[in-house]
Amino acid sequence: MNMPKSDALVIFGATGDLVYKMIFPALYAMQRKGNLHVPVIGVARSDWTIDRFRARARASIEQQVDFDEAVFAKLAKRLQYISGDYGVATTHAALRKKLGDAAHPLHFLAIPPSVFPKVIKALGESGCAKGARVIVEKPFGRDLLTAKKLSATLHTVFDESNIFRIDHYLGKESVQNLLVFRFANTFLEPVWNREFIQSVQITMAEDFGVKGRGGFYEESGAIRDVIENHLFQVVGFLAMESPQTTSQESIRDELAKLFQMIRPLSAEDVVRGQFRGYREEEGVASDSNVETFAAARLHIDSPRWEGVPFFIRAGKCLPTTMTEVLVMFKPPVLTNLCPGQANYVRFQLSPDVTIAMGARVKRPGDKLIGDQTELKVVDRPHGDEMTAYERLLGDAMVGDGNLFAGQEGVEAAWRIVESVLDLETPVLEYEPGTWGPPEAEKLSAGTCGCNSASSILRPVLEVGTTKR
Ligand code: NDP
Repeated sequence: MNMPKSDALVIFGATGDLVYKMIFPALYAMQRKGNLHVPVIGVARSDWTIDRFRARARASIEQQVDFDEAVFAKLAKRLQYISGDYGVATTHAALRKKLGDAAHPLHFLAIPPSVFPKVIKALGESGCAKGARVIVEKPFGRDLLTAKKLSATLHTVFDESNIFRIDHYLGKESVQNLLVFRFANTFLEPVWNREFIQSVQITMAEDFGVKGRGGFYEESGAIRDVIENHLFQVVGFLAMESPQTTSQESIRDELAKLFQMIRPLSAEDVVRGQFRGYREEEGVASDSNVETFAAARLHIDSPRWEGVPFFIRAGKCLPTTMTEVLVMFKPPVLTNLCPGQANYVRFQLSPDVTIAMGARVKRPGDKLIGDQTELKVVDRPHGDEMTAYERLLGDAMVGDGNLFAGQEGVEAAWRIVESVLDLETPVLEYEPGTWGPPEAEKLSAGTCGCNSASSILRPVLEVGTTKR
């Protein structure tokens, strides 16, 4: 079906953090490549002039990307600004007027989720939703119930095909590459299962804290903020069965099926930590029990993965900033040939993008022992790819929902974490700059690879690499 292209972009919450960090740079990149052809209308309560809004865009872009005055001038011309309360009819009447002849606006709700209902209602009542699409950002609700409510609210005005749920991980080249690497390489399929794979480890480490957004973080914590969405998408791409086609429906169906096979987490499968100093952050309760670190052990009840643990950990104030997947193979029979690390496939998803295979080769000399090597099939430094938001905004504007989360998958993901949200067990304190509470390593007890002395949940691999 030929989808109409969006002919205006409306950004609610245009004065906010997400717009500053992600949306302005994405729009600038689109403009630079000649991919932006529509007016961009910012809406927010702040009593800003258009000049102030443009200055904000300039500051964001100058701070984050290579700045070209001529490109920015073109983008600045597209920018418009409406100041007004989000649920008030006059704001939406002003918006309808500014939209002019635009028949297919794309509304981006970059506002706190509590404000969604009134904006959606007002969009419907003002006629601004007619022929329109809407983008909402993760988190999609705070739990299963609120996720369902959010979906119902959106459906009061928008058809499912016009709802675009951004989990920007799906827009990352490196995450899409998981899918391609798995399903475009026939050598992988025979070994991508419980017969050969010992465990899968996924780490999302950040070496910084909450960056002054303690109030925001208090509402989420690591499980809601990144595990239930970003890291589950990664699990999904690593573990799902092959989709029938590369269409949106096929991929979403397989992801949803996979999430339904993941056993709901129990308290024993989760270790929660909090970095020392978090409670002194602005906006954070002095007795906060919100986790800034979480490690979880997932079980997938499927013929392919029965018995293979998927370990996930995510945390703030860890020793490095990096997201990495390590798929560990079972040890070979002759274990004395491979002391140390087992064979593995490693996907670094950010900041650099790497796909590498850890293998053993004979160490030159008279002894029959193996040396660890890595064959890198992808090795790209940060920054040479289309950003996720640039990609996702472009896709939403043409109505391509392939890289957006589906409601079925969203609900299945909440079901997995539902019983470990807001646990009353006190969080375990950890020192900033460490790998979280030591208790996290106990999750992997008895499931180590050929190096039985090391823990599965250990720091991101450090190996002597051989580049081929
Ligand atoms: P902000 O807290 O920065 O809020 C965005 C704007 O909304 C503010 O500039 C403010 O504009 C308005 N606003 C804030 N609080 C309220 C309120 N209580 N009632 C009405 N308006 C309010 O949000 P973010 O930009 O951080 O996030 C936007 C959306 O994106 C949220 O849904 C968030 O969950 C999601 N998200 C954000 C990420 C990030 O990195 N920031 C990452 C992933 C998702 P004004 O006062 O001018 O109206």
